[in-house]
Amino acid sequence: MTTTTGPPSRTRTMLWGITLRCARCGSGHLFRRYFVMRAECPRCGLHFEREQGYWTGSLACNMIATGGLFAIIFVAVLVLTLPDIPVIPVLAVTLPIMAFGPIVFYPFSKTIWVAIDRAYLQRLDPNERFDERL
Ligand SMILES: [Zn+2]
Repeated sequence: MTTTTGPPSRTRTMLWGITLRCARCGSGHLFRRYFVMRAECPRCGLHFEREQGYWTGSLACNMIATGGLFAIIFVAVLVLTLPDIPVIPVLAVTLPIMAFGPIVFYPFSKTIWVAIDRAYLQRLDPNERFDERL
């Protein structure tokens, strides 16, 4: 599937990120364990952590996804049930989302962040980019 020439499209890169695949080659198996991502892609050798603090973007992705899911559910329930808001059921659904959502979404946030970085923030090989700065 990676026989195309040139870098993959932004859409393909983002789809690979959403499905826990390498943003450069589409290979899977990027995690040794649920919370342990490999330093490089096992197929193409893409080094994921480009610089210190790189994963801050992953943290932002995780917070946006979890907070967004919470907000959508919370507002939908409020709109659908006004004026008699079922507080206990709303808490029973939204609190676990806020507690466990970041854990469930953790690996996805990392691969999605790598995909965003490659698709929108830089279109070159990260090592080549650093070489150009030197
Ligand atoms: Zn790869």
